[in-house]
Parts: sequence; structure tokens; C-alpha cells
Amino acid sequence: MYAIHAVTPESYTPGGEKNFQFLSEEDQARVWKIFKDCLASPATHYAVDVTINLPSGEKRLTRSQALILRDASGAAIRVVGIEMDITEEKRAETAMARAVEAAEQADRAKSEFLATMSHEIRTPMNGILGYTELLKTTGLTGEQRTYLESIEASGEHLLAVINDVLDVSRIEAGGMRIESAAFDVRDCVSEVFEMLRPVAAVKSLDYCCVMDPNLPPVMVSDRRRVVQVLTNVLGNAIKFTDEGEVRLGVAAERDGGTGDWRWEFRVADSGPGIAPEALAQIFQPFYQVDSSAGRRHGGTGLGLTISRRLAEMLGGTLTVENRSGGGSEFAFILRAAGSVTAVGARPVEPCPEARVKGRLLVAEDNPINRKLCEIQLQRIGCEMQFALDGQEALEAFSGGEFDLILMDMQMPGMDGCAATREIRRLEQSRGGQRTPIIAMTANVRAEDESTCRAAGMDDFLSKPLSQECLAAMLEKWLSPAARSTPA
Ligand code: ADP
Repeated sequence: MYAIHAVTPESYTPGGEKNFQFLSEEDQARVWKIFKDCLASPATHYAVDVTINLPSGEKRLTRSQALILRDASGAAIRVVGIEMDITEEKRAETAMARAVEAAEQADRAKSEFLATMSHEIRTPMNGILGYTELLKTTGLTGEQRTYLESIEASGEHLLAVINDVLDVSRIEAGGMRIESAAFDVRDCVSEVFEMLRPVAAVKSLDYCCVMDPNLPPVMVSDRRRVVQVLTNVLGNAIKFTDEGEVRLGVAAERDGGTGDWRWEFRVADSGPGIAPEALAQIFQPFYQVDSSAGRRHGGTGLGLTISRRLAEMLGGTLTVENRSGGGSEFAFILRAAGSVTAVGARPVEPCPEARVKGRLLVAEDNPINRKLCEIQLQRIGCEMQFALDGQEALEAFSGGEFDLILMDMQMPGMDGCAATREIRRLEQSRGGQRTPIIAMTANVRAEDESTCRAAGMDDFLSKPLSQECLAAMLEKWLSPAARSTPA
């Protein structure tokens, strides 16, 4: 008490009301009122934080806590309390709150930066990959085709790197969404296995896939993410193995307790294995066993970080161990529902050329992507009118008739979301039909998609955009069956 108030027993006699001399007039009135209200009520405790002014002029923050003793009738007979100096505690609390705020701000800035960079890189990538796809269908010499295929492979590689960086930031920000639906697990595994077969063939590896004959045909999970994890682990096995085998094994057994299934995907290789000291590290972001400038294999060191986090988000694990005879074995184990009744076969991918008819309004500010979109839409069989920004799109819409609108999100002046809101408003005032609006954007975060949908868009296409994806989306919204379904 003496220490808190910086006084001595000689100069000061403690006492409830005497303590008031350390408070400002305003605080005296406030504390007195709280105290009196407590006494008048049936309360048995009293607590108040207050700033005290020491004789030296220094200010300290104190907390007074008291017990109010009452007689049988409830009248207060005694108040026993303590006073604590909480100056440092408050200072630390404020510093902590500021640090948290600064960290959150830095995190927001990082997310913003990644989203912007992703957008800025994806926009030209749309032009590079789109025109490459078109150019491949023209008359080329063998030499030109080889060069073009290298451009395409490099473009796809660059896109994979951007996607990895974006995935990591999405997972860190908790923005990665996991879906759950029934799918044909054999079909999913074969898709990954067949996709990577040519890469294994180049190295003449003994490449095989063994699926347990008793595997239930249906798994309930996020097919896309299962494919992503398997592709990464199987791709690594092929990448790091120069000779011998790469084997993918799939099995499942019923989990007695929950009725779910325990799915086990194992990828074994006869490659170099992983040094014991690196085993725990390879799942850390950017870690590569060989990160020297002279390393033989490319990569960002993000694939396994993403894969393990995805495995965990799917309710599973991803682990690795070295095989006794050399090489490593990755185990991706998931607990998920399954069914022994098959789901319908996946629809066969339709032919991309000239398959949908319709008149489209396309809002796109980038001239290269506009031209690319024009060629892609002509090949698909659609007519189109272009708008260079949201305002132009709105004007074109109010004066014309369109079956569907493709809307870029980020445009100068009125952006895609603002234009969509205006179009929806106009439609409502006219009482006419609702025109499907599809976002066609280089912004690919989950929140970008929700922003587009909240503005009134119906679907979402992310750039770079292949002709096949565009055609499939148009078919979804413009096929006779889709048009006859009321919105
Ligand atoms: P990246 O392959 O892009 O470098 P990953 O996160 O997928 O990044 O892998 C991290 C590191 O783990 C690799 O650089 C490699 O050193 C090691 N690694 C992964 N899979 C294997 C494997 N099957 N055999 C040997 N080393 C592997």
C-alpha cells in the first residue's frame, strides 16, 4: 500500500476515504458512485480500476478489489479489500494488443500483395497459354511445334509455381475450402496415374498401380484435393527416381468404430530415399534436401507442405519413411465415408469446337485477352460484343439482348462487381429474365469468388482460361437443357 502510493507510515495513515486524495476529482466521483451503488445493492464484491496520482507527479494504474460483509438483514457491516498495482500488466496488455494489430496488418498486406501479384501474373499468362493453344492448331513445321511445346511447358510450369505460392498463402490465411462429395475412387487414382505415365516413361521406370480388388468404388471426400496430394507425391517419386520402380498402391478397410473407411494411398520408389535428418524437414515450406545452385531437380519446396496440410484438412495424414532396400515410401491415409455402390460414370468430355450457340456480352479491358477471347468464342460457336469496362458493359446491356455475360472483375472505372449490381438492378426494374453472368478473372482467392457471387454473378472462371474450360462453362449455362431450367 505504502509502496504503491509512494508514501511512508510516518507521513500517511491508510484509510478508505483518505485514498481518494490520490484520485482526480472526476475519478473520485466515479469511484464513490460505484462504491455506494455496490453497498446499496445485494453485491458481495466490489472491483474498480483507477489511475492514481503520486506526490511525485507520476501516474499509476491500480485495481481495488473488496469483499462486502453483510449482516443477516443484508446491511453492509464491513468492507475488506486489497489494492494492486497493475501498471505493468496494462502496459504489457496494450503492447500485446498493438503487436497483434501490427501482425494482423502485416498479414493482410501479405495476402493483398499475393492476390495482386497473382492477378498481375495470371493476366499475361492467360494470353501466353491461350495463344499457344491456338497456335498449336495452325500449320507448323516440326521445329516450330517443338519450340511452341517448350513455351507451353514453361508457361504451365510458371503457372504451377504461382498456384503453389497462392495455395500456401490461402492455407495460412485459413481461406482454403474443402468440399465433400461422392466420387469414383478408381477413376480418381487412374486419372493421376495416367497423367504422370508419360513422365515415368521418359525414364523407363517400372511404373505400376495396384488397387486392392476389395476397394469400395465410392469415396466421399474432396476429389480435387485428393488428386492434388496424389499428383504431388507421385510426381516427386518419379522426379527423384532415376531407375527402378515407382509404385502406387491403394487399399481401404472399414473402420469398425465409426463405420467410415480408412483409405490408404502409398507411393513407393527406388530413388535416393531421404536423409534421416531431412525426414522431418521436407514438410516445411521451401525446404529442399538439395537446395544448392547445382541441384538437378527444379521445384519450389512447397509441394509437400501443401500436401500435408491438405491431407490434414481432409481429416488424414501424410507421412514418409525410407524403405529398407533403398528409396522412400509416402503414406497418405484418410478416414472418410465410402460406399460399395458405384456412382454414375463421369460424363465424357465433349468436343471443344463449335458446340454452343448464343450471343454474349464480354467485358474485358486487356486487349490481348480480348482478342484471345474473341477467337476462342468464335471457335466455340458464339457471337459476341465487347465492352472495355463496367460502364460500357452496362450501356451495352441496357441497349442490347444477350444470352450470357462474361465479366472481368478488375477493370478501370466501374469494375465487374459494380457493373453486375447495376445490371441486376436494371433487370429487376424491367421485370425481365435474369441473364447469366460469369466472372472471368485472374483473381482466384475464395473470397474473390464470394465477392462475385454476392454482387449477383452466377459462376466463376479463373484465368488462365483454356478454350475447353470456357466451352464447358458456356455449355453449362447455354445448352437447351440449361435454358429451359428456371433460374
Ligand atoms: P519440390 O519437389 O518442389 O522441391 P516438395 O515439397 O515436393 O518440393 O519436396 C521437398 C523435398 O523433399 C524435395 O526437394 C526433395 O528433396 C525431397 N523429396 C520429396 N519427395 C522425394 C522422394 N520421393 N525421394 C527423394 N526425395 C524426395
